Amino acid sequence: GWRSRAAFKLIELDDRFHLLKPGQRVVDLGAAPGGWTQVAVKRGAAHVVGVDLLPVEPVAGAEIIEGDFTDPELPARLIEMLGGRADLVLSDMAPNTTGHAPTDHVRILSLAEGALEFAFDVLAEGGGFVAKVFQGGSEKQMLDPMKKVFRSVRHAKPPASRKGSSELYVVATGFQAENLAELR
Ligand code: SAM
Repeated sequence: GWRSRAAFKLIELDDRFHLLKPGQRVVDLGAAPGGWTQVAVKRGAAHVVGVDLLPVEPVAGAEIIEGDFTDPELPARLIEMLGGRADLVLSDMAPNTTGHAPTDHVRILSLAEGALEFAFDVLAEGGGFVAKVFQGGSEKQMLDPMKKVFRSVRHAKPPASRKGSSELYVVATGFQAENLAELR
């Protein structure tokens, strides 16, 4: 069985956008308790590394790094563990919620922006990126830079995501590394 209800969100995103393909190298940021990592393995990824501040029970077919995704040594370490640059960077990262919605939204967006910067460091040409964001206006500020470096950028709310929540995912495919220069 899946370890988290969140697993269904990735299943639904993948059924719609066909992100996971056999043989891929996949990074799962904010992996605990391991649902998305399980889905990536199950859907045929060849190399999967999950990263979380919290410990994750071993997932057959995947490796886990316990630590902060902002660790400056992480990109190089991941590329080595994966045997090459990543085809897909997933981020379901969320901070501990404060209950103060505006604060929670800002924090989740800064995690998503950090995940995007991280993706720039590890993605292979043509790679994809998925991150949890929050609906509320400011999620759009992330889209403009993304549109410069990915062929396709979309927003999606998978059915498994609670209706009342403002949680949303940004789904980008077709990474074009040569366009990064335009952002910097
Ligand atoms: N996708 C997971 C699954 O299917 O089991 C659920 C992920 S849970 C919603 C969000 C995770 O993000 C938490 O486990 C949290 O520890 C992790 N997280 C938050 N900030 C992080 C950071 N700076 N580095 C690594 N993980 C982080």
